Amino acid sequence: MNCPICSAAPAETFSARFVTAQKCSGCGHIYAQDPVTMQGVQVLVDPDEMMKEYAARNKRLINFWLRSGFIQANSAVLDFGAGSGHILRSLKQLVPSIQISCVEADDAAFKFLHSQPFTVFDSLEQAPRGSFDAIILIELLEHLNDPVPLLLEIKSRLRPGGRMFITTPCGETRTGYRRTSAYDTPEHVQFWTEKSFQLLCEKTGLNFRPVPQRVMSPRKTLNRWSYETLRAMRDSVMGIRYLVGYLQCAPQGSN
Ligand SMILES: [Zn+2]
Repeated sequence: MNCPICSAAPAETFSARFVTAQKCSGCGHIYAQDPVTMQGVQVLVDPDEMMKEYAARNKRLINFWLRSGFIQANSAVLDFGAGSGHILRSLKQLVPSIQISCVEADDAAFKFLHSQPFTVFDSLEQAPRGSFDAIILIELLEHLNDPVPLLLEIKSRLRPGGRMFITTPCGETRTGYRRTSAYDTPEHVQFWTEKSFQLLCEKTGLNFRPVPQRVMSPRKTLNRWSYETLRAMRDSVMGIRYLVGYLQCAPQGSN
């Protein structure tokens, strides 16, 4: 199977924890060999448990989104792969006037999300194009069998000036280190490198602007400065192993 990002042939095949993985000879991207349809769909975990577990983290994340202008009081937000919906429920609590839509393929999660004050779509096709100020893609890109065309479709749902917030683990750092969390989940089928993620952005006409990884941390760090400094030092030696940031449309002709 050829690379889903640049179409080059594989240079290496290796056994990861849950999948047989291949490394592209062109861009160095790593991907699951022959992922089955819907392999990337995760089933619902107890929504209220998740809500409790992530309440404090979600509040910090949402405040970060507000401060950085990603969302505003009346934004139209689309969450693709909303899962148990804990981030969206926190968002509605903290910003009641926000309009929330989500796409979720898992039946049980879909039914649960339907009980919430959200517009729920069971596929992206139902989400209207050019309609959203902010699109949330948290732990999503590593689940997609064919990321380039799907990310283009998702991008087409943005309003002019809208942005996407993404998080995704890397499968290999630039030093070749592979013991990252990317391989710990059976539903993961894409294992990004900084280079292959950059190529994904180029192919979809998007610019990536990273933000501090701590916005996703479940723990409130007592000393943010030292936490970020230590992480930055580790990443500068080992390479980045977790991508967090905003994607926005690249100016015409910049790619
Ligand atoms: Zn490639």
